[in-house]
Amino acid sequence: MNIDKIVILSLKHFTLSSIIEVAIPVPLHNTFDYLCDQKVSIGARVKVPFGQKKVTAIVLSHKQKSDFEKLRPVEKVLDQKSLLSKEILDFLFWSAKYYHHPLGEVLASALPKNLREGKPADIKKTSAHKNTLSPVTFDATTEQKKAIKSVLKSENNFHGFLLHGVTGSGKTEVYLSIAQALLKKGRQILVLVPEIGLTPQMIARFEERVGAKVVAVHSQLNETQKLDAYLMAKNGEAGVVLGTRSAIFTPMPNLGLVIVDEEHDGSFKQQTSFRYSARDLSFMRAKLANIPLILGTATPSLETLKNVVDRKLTRLVLSSRPGQAIMPEVNLIDMRNQTAEALSCTDCDWKAECDRCDSALIYHHQINRLKCHHCGIEKMPEPTCPSCHQKTLRVLGYGTERLEENLESYFPDTTIIRIDRDTTRRKRAFATHLEKINSGEPCIIVGTQMLSKGHDFSNLSFVGILDVDVGLLSLDFRATEHLAQLLIQVSGRAGRSDYQGEVSIQTRYPNHKIFNFIRSSQYTKYASTLLKEREKTELPPYSHQALICANSKNKNNAEKFLNEVAELLNNIDIDSVEIWGPVPAVIEKKANYYYFNLYLQSINRNQLHRVIKTFYKHLEKIKVSSSVRWFLDVDPVD
Ligand code: ADP
Ligand code: ZN
Ligand code: ZN
Repeated sequence: MNIDKIVILSLKHFTLSSIIEVAIPVPLHNTFDYLCDQKVSIGARVKVPFGQKKVTAIVLSHKQKSDFEKLRPVEKVLDQKSLLSKEILDFLFWSAKYYHHPLGEVLASALPKNLREGKPADIKKTSAHKNTLSPVTFDATTEQKKAIKSVLKSENNFHGFLLHGVTGSGKTEVYLSIAQALLKKGRQILVLVPEIGLTPQMIARFEERVGAKVVAVHSQLNETQKLDAYLMAKNGEAGVVLGTRSAIFTPMPNLGLVIVDEEHDGSFKQQTSFRYSARDLSFMRAKLANIPLILGTATPSLETLKNVVDRKLTRLVLSSRPGQAIMPEVNLIDMRNQTAEALSCTDCDWKAECDRCDSALIYHHQINRLKCHHCGIEKMPEPTCPSCHQKTLRVLGYGTERLEENLESYFPDTTIIRIDRDTTRRKRAFATHLEKINSGEPCIIVGTQMLSKGHDFSNLSFVGILDVDVGLLSLDFRATEHLAQLLIQVSGRAGRSDYQGEVSIQTRYPNHKIFNFIRSSQYTKYASTLLKEREKTELPPYSHQALICANSKNKNNAEKFLNEVAELLNNIDIDSVEIWGPVPAVIEKKANYYYFNLYLQSINRNQLHRVIKTFYKHLEKIKVSSSVRWFLDVDPVD
């Protein structure tokens, strides 16, 4: 009797314990099976043992049996209900597959840190937030009305739009009107902005105009705030989610519209680990939710313009600025007789360079140090030229810091505000600068290209642009496209009020054709000449690329690894994919590591992806030296 009882109990235990498949945030391309004797939903988090560690995993499926023996049991079920809905999981699966990135890492990068670490999915601070709405004091222009109508006509199906309007032409007003209309119907709005574009002004504009809760997700929030924002989006409480690139993964059950503002901006591409483009992913996000997508910009990327040509996007134009604002006058300053930059010897042409990188050192006056902008190393400048031993060293050229000093001596009574990486590293530093700028007092702003991005500086009368020539000389085939976008965007900052602004550009190549187009604000015309060149040379967007980048301290190891990869790829029987390299990266040596690139290119995207898939399947045939680090970048942008 006793024995029977024991047998029945253990059988019962056996049938209850089922197997679950989970994704774990590790750089491996497979999923893992565990035993679980509790009910657990797909998309919920579980804590599992992994090697010596405990990790947070996401449940992907229930299984009857596993290919592995000796499965370990789940330690703890962390979510009673599923955390990631089927809709968002499908989107993440698609993203992982497209970028050939390990699923566990993709899922983890979509979660706020507290959830990744297994903390409870509970909202801490529910502020009963009520926006004070400001009435609109103007009527939409005919073009704005047309744009609003077109998008709303597609409210219940996927349709991509390019909202193409010069800076200040009222694109944000179009977003706000469409958002208002959709929010009234209980839909949620996802707005992606460039890293630097998520300013308090932008958030305030949405809060003033929509009668729904607006949550902003950005890096300056603390972890509790990030978790709250995520959960309020997920439970539908937040009507509008405003965020930088990672916000593309925010779960929003009633999502009704995706907006990517300043779609040409490089910061939508993640440049570490999971190298996705939030701009590109926005198409799939909108498609899966069956809703409209708006890409807004004054300077569309060539990818986007090609999508318009291919009728994958409908172009809506805002051709002029409302009210009186006039486009600025653009002048060139011929710099052909001027000298170059950095600390160099006027006698023998020696230049201060970084020992660890292939790059010049930049002199910083305030600390009297030479600094490498690639690896960050600092050193005292030599008193005499290390090459000819004379006291002939001079600082030539202008960093923003030196420029600030010179301007101070010319304009002692005017406030000078410097905006670059050094002065905006502190939390909220950038916002503080912007507040000062917009306070109405006269000032001079000195900065890097951070300044060009979507800020509405009223009363800006003059813009000077230095150092554009790097963009004309670069080996990167996208350099002229990016330079044209930058110049148009910066020019767009001038003369946004009632008088005409002025823009002056210093260059050693005043005859370059780019300047004719910039002078007459003809970005689109210039972009179409570039697009034709890309078509002729079969470069993106007329072909598709993937990059395998490897680095090592020992120069040979990285190159040897990529040579073996190239051999493997060349053995895959798909003709339409070209393999190019390995070649040294543009900056071959960075912080003592040597970088090499291997490019894959094809006019057929599917075949390119098939080659990458086959490559991963056979990867174990290559012995990777432990000193080599490498990654794959699909649709690389530099
Ligand atoms: P963009 O997003 O294209 O830079 P905004 O939407 O920010 O342009 O508009 C620029 C300025 O013009 C804002 O101050 C905005 O309030 C104003 N504006 C927008 N549309 C109109 C309109 N139809 N009539 C008058 N002013 C407008
Ligand atoms: Zn360096
Ligand atoms: Zn010298």
